[in-house]
Amino acid sequence: MTAPKTIEHLIKTVTLYAPHADLDMLKLAYDFAANAHRGQTRKSGEPYIIHPLAAAQILADMRIDPTIVTATLLHDVPEDTLVTIDDIEKNFGSEIANLVRGITKLGKLKYRGVERYIENLRKMFVAMAEDVRVMLIKFADRIHNLQTLHSLPPQKQYRIALESLEIYAPIAGRLGMAEMKGQLEDLAFQYVYPKEYQRAKKIMEEKLFGKEPYLRHMERGAERELLASGISVISILGRNKRLYSFFQKLIRKDNDVAKIYDLFAIRILVPTIADCYASLGILHKLWKPMRGRIKDYISQPKPNHYQSLHTTIFDDQGEVIEFQIRTPEMHEEAEYGVAAHWHYDERGSRLPMREVRWVKELAEIQKEMLTKLSDLEELKVDFLQTRIFVFTPKGDVIDLPEDATPVDFAYHIHSDIGDKCTGARVNDKLVSLETPLKNGDIVEIIVDKNRKGPNEDWLNFVKTQTAKYHIRSSQKSNLPRWIQSVLHRKKEAK
Ligand code: MN
Repeated sequence: MTAPKTIEHLIKTVTLYAPHADLDMLKLAYDFAANAHRGQTRKSGEPYIIHPLAAAQILADMRIDPTIVTATLLHDVPEDTLVTIDDIEKNFGSEIANLVRGITKLGKLKYRGVERYIENLRKMFVAMAEDVRVMLIKFADRIHNLQTLHSLPPQKQYRIALESLEIYAPIAGRLGMAEMKGQLEDLAFQYVYPKEYQRAKKIMEEKLFGKEPYLRHMERGAERELLASGISVISILGRNKRLYSFFQKLIRKDNDVAKIYDLFAIRILVPTIADCYASLGILHKLWKPMRGRIKDYISQPKPNHYQSLHTTIFDDQGEVIEFQIRTPEMHEEAEYGVAAHWHYDERGSRLPMREVRWVKELAEIQKEMLTKLSDLEELKVDFLQTRIFVFTPKGDVIDLPEDATPVDFAYHIHSDIGDKCTGARVNDKLVSLETPLKNGDIVEIIVDKNRKGPNEDWLNFVKTQTAKYHIRSSQKSNLPRWIQSVLHRKKEAK
């Protein structure tokens, strides 16, 4: 995160894992985007180009295919500037143009009611089915937006973070992209559950304080033993559990940290499946395994295709520690999932393209997300929080901002109904027109056909732009004609 955000740094990063990449194209895409976004700034005041550059750097740091990194530099150009997809296609060819087209179709995050939200989600699933690489760009885009979330107003922070946690991260998880999922979750966590975030962080720090030398000691011990048994260990690395995943586990284990055995784990990569099982046996000879904690996800992969052997052992000091044993191919799968094909490993090679299994899973993910959305609505802890849903007597749903009144409701139905409303029944009770509506209210508007127009005082309590607009414009037409013509002339003079 502290890496300098320059095109030179990006090029250097890409060169390290993909020396044969088209670096001229990368540089060209940067110049092209910087030029198109010239004069635009982000909420933080920085030049806009910082954002696509940072998103591209996030993917490059994960060693993602340079073509996708190049498209990421251009991802906001068609939506935010005068430059079109056709211009991009002329300069960068159809593959990059198609990726940019895909991301543009998804649109920007603009929450405008749950129906449009679900519509946007559907668009996302369609784009995902057409080309799953688009999701990599979307995730990187979102990760950078989360990294810079502090410059937005709190309401927006909460909504974007919650959406990342409840929608984007689970999709990344279902696609098997653990790295993306983990980053999205840890960045969003502090905005959605600030208190819990602080608590989880504190517990984690206390538990891990001073443990580094111990972890290194265990890594070396395991490696020595495996090598002595003739296993060519490719890598062995300890890692802490990610904060949000730790927090979720803490809840599942009734807040008992002692029941969390994978607070840190040592990951071992060995060449073959046979080596995986052999390594497990060697570790168990060295340290006593904990009963019921040996998991064979190689013969029985997780639903998202995750494969590994897991075991928790008691070390010499009676501490528990988890080992995860897998092949490099399984590791690629575990970290990058369906995107593994576009990820370069340590040796600069990539997994072969596999069947397009995500298309099959898409319907399933979509169903899950939509169920989740309706759950959230019930719990009232979601992006819908700033919106309420009320009903017409016929049962049609109307989506209004919080504290909207019967007048807002009336104008939402039709401007004539707004102009002529004189009263309202909410849940069969007569109420005054300024009564704030609540989620689930059934609203009936009483209309007086002889009414001349709205009351100017309504402006003091209405919440929607529609209502304000209609009240104001009818006020104007009630003005004496000579004032109207002055206003008209003034407008023309502008
Ligand atoms: Mn963007």
